[in-house]
Amino acid sequence: EAKLFPELDYMLFSRDVLRKRQKEAEMLLKLNECVDRNFCDFHIVIQPIVDAQSGAISKGEALLRWVYKGRTAAPDEFIPLLEKSRLIIPTGKWIFEQAVKACKVIVNYIPDFKLSFNVSYLQVTDESLFPFMRETLEKYGVSGKNMIIELTETHFDSMPEVMLRWLENCKSLGMEFALDDFGNGYSSLNFLFQYPTDIIKIDRGLVREIQKSEKNLQFLKAIVCACHHAGKSVCIEGVETEQELAVVRDTQCDYIQGYYFYSPEELDDLYDLLAHTDTANRLETSGV
Ligand code: C2E
Ligand code: MG
Ligand code: MG
Ligand code: MG
Repeated sequence: EAKLFPELDYMLFSRDVLRKRQKEAEMLLKLNECVDRNFCDFHIVIQPIVDAQSGAISKGEALLRWVYKGRTAAPDEFIPLLEKSRLIIPTGKWIFEQAVKACKVIVNYIPDFKLSFNVSYLQVTDESLFPFMRETLEKYGVSGKNMIIELTETHFDSMPEVMLRWLENCKSLGMEFALDDFGNGYSSLNFLFQYPTDIIKIDRGLVREIQKSEKNLQFLKAIVCACHHAGKSVCIEGVETEQELAVVRDTQCDYIQGYYFYSPEELDDLYDLLAHTDTANRLETSGV
């Protein structure tokens, strides 16, 4: 069917694309500046993760934030740009160092605390990443045992050799490996059983699903059970309400991350919280 104004369609489309490109170019310029100026507009926040039974804080996840045009941009808006431009490589090292520094403070309150950090595949292709990580841990006197690597499998169904080698190096320092966003559509059972995965993080999408039917809940329970049989622990992400908590607890998962317990916190707020919270006491009040 012939269009009356085909060129109009084209113009509307291209103007949208152009606007998006301009926005991205502008962001990229600022991201470059930020990296050049010692990552000045970046900071990490940490979301505490609780033990599913006791509710006590036992882990945390470091999440990147970028102050851009007077507001805090969400990682989903700019991490893809950092990846496309390869700026994620220097930025990833900086994030790791920030995470290690924060972890050093937190273990004063919770000695066996573990802090996880997210890694993009591109970072792993950089040979200098592992030596940098080892030296950074040494520099701050933090044990690898207090750190957890989070990887999403997203772009491949088998793990590239370079990633496997890097993971094994990191694990030799005591770090654990968590598979992030399990159940978001990309996950394969390879990652559960073939690779040296210690923790499975269930995507919050699945938590929404279990609200919908009993069958979905049974499915989730089966996943948790399979992980436990394979010797892996399970963290369920995105628990926001009391109803969700009740259902999620019912799966026998090990850890819970979600706004119901804690949101990602600015570091000063987190340190304050830890200084004023008796983690041992939390165990008692929850009856464990
Ligand atoms: P992720 O690694 O799966 O991180 C968890 C995300 O879920 C975080 O979003 C967190 O704020 C959010 N979240 C936690 N609990 C809840 C909840 O109860 N409800 C809802 N709706 N959301 C919850 P955030 O900070 O926006 O990060 C988004 C994604 O960006 C991360 O997903 C991760 O893939 C990526 N990202 C964040 N920081 C970094 C980083 O330092 N490096 C890399 N490579 N990626 C990062
Ligand atoms: Mg993560
Ligand atoms: Mg996740
Ligand atoms: Mg992710």
